[in-house]
Amino acid sequence: MNQELILPKRLLMGPGPSDVHPHVLKAMATPLLGHLDPTFLNIMNETMELIRYVYETKNQVTIAMSGTGSAGMETVFVNLIEPGDKVIIGVNGLFGQRMVDVAKRAGAEVIQVHAEWGRIINPDDIEKALKNYSPVKAVAVVHAETSTGANQPLEEIAKLAKEYDALMIVDAVTSLGGTKVGVDKIGIDAVYSGTQKCLSAPPGLSPVSLSDKAVEVLKSRKTKVQSWYLDLSMIQAYWGQERFYHHTAPISMIYALHEALRLIKEEGLEATFKRHEQNGRALQAGIEAMGLELFAQEGHRLPMLTSVNIPDSADDVKVRHLLLERYGLEIGGGLGPTKNKIWRVGLMGYSSQRSNVIQFLTALESILS
Ligand code: PLP
Repeated sequence: MNQELILPKRLLMGPGPSDVHPHVLKAMATPLLGHLDPTFLNIMNETMELIRYVYETKNQVTIAMSGTGSAGMETVFVNLIEPGDKVIIGVNGLFGQRMVDVAKRAGAEVIQVHAEWGRIINPDDIEKALKNYSPVKAVAVVHAETSTGANQPLEEIAKLAKEYDALMIVDAVTSLGGTKVGVDKIGIDAVYSGTQKCLSAPPGLSPVSLSDKAVEVLKSRKTKVQSWYLDLSMIQAYWGQERFYHHTAPISMIYALHEALRLIKEEGLEATFKRHEQNGRALQAGIEAMGLELFAQEGHRLPMLTSVNIPDSADDVKVRHLLLERYGLEIGGGLGPTKNKIWRVGLMGYSSQRSNVIQFLTALESILS
């Protein structure tokens, strides 16, 4: 006989998922309503409003796509890009690379603008590409590059995109709810995120928002969106006034997202950002005080994801194993070129607590000494 799941207690301080807020877990245990029940439709409406609140946007098309962050990424590219469109993508880590793959599969001609892993994309390089390849359909960057801990400034790149009449696409999977995305103020045309990072919910939904300009691009497509499941014109008819059935919304996940966003609103957006900032900086100061070095470019370090150079004296896998075994504490290792070279420590959403900073520093110090 299989046993009921009784699992070890963990503190999730990796690159995501983060710890789920207990109120969110409780919301997920709420009995189901039918997905076209008027009460559930009202929950969907409130969820859209709450997503607008965290993105700081008035965009009409602001919904939660069924699927994880990568589904949000794919949604943006398959809906806005048609075969042959030129797209400039900033690549300074794994998720920029993933965007390239996704955009190419959508038929884009991709122009890659690179920066070393850990560093930010230089807006001058984006401008050069915009000049050289004009007309360009879209410029895409990752706001919080979870694979490296780099915090990409968006203002200048968004201005350039606008100047060259290109759509500005932003990956906000790790940034949303942890640092300001400010969709309308920055001038972002298409943005996607995920529920399992700073929103403190499980993985499973991807909040997506499109500006009016992006909606116009979608409406004036010459070709049908290649993916039936991710076709926003049909999905918007489900989330919007029409309520046309498209697919059955993952009801418990919508409860989770609704509660997660409600909690952020209750704390206040600015207070949430401040908590992430303070805990992130405290962690980084503590790591440096131990004599360790931070990996990401100084001045552009994320508060919710800290990357640390692994000292020569330490064995990457052994240290992470001991953290898990002795302290029930999960952190992440490096990916691609940073494999076995960095640790990635997350302080995202509900996991961003001062007590977690102290617990991690104490645990790491005892293992390394
Ligand atoms: N973009 C970024 C910046 C991420 O950190 C992640 C996941 O870690 C993704 C995209 C992909 O999201 P998911 O793993 O939820 O599909």
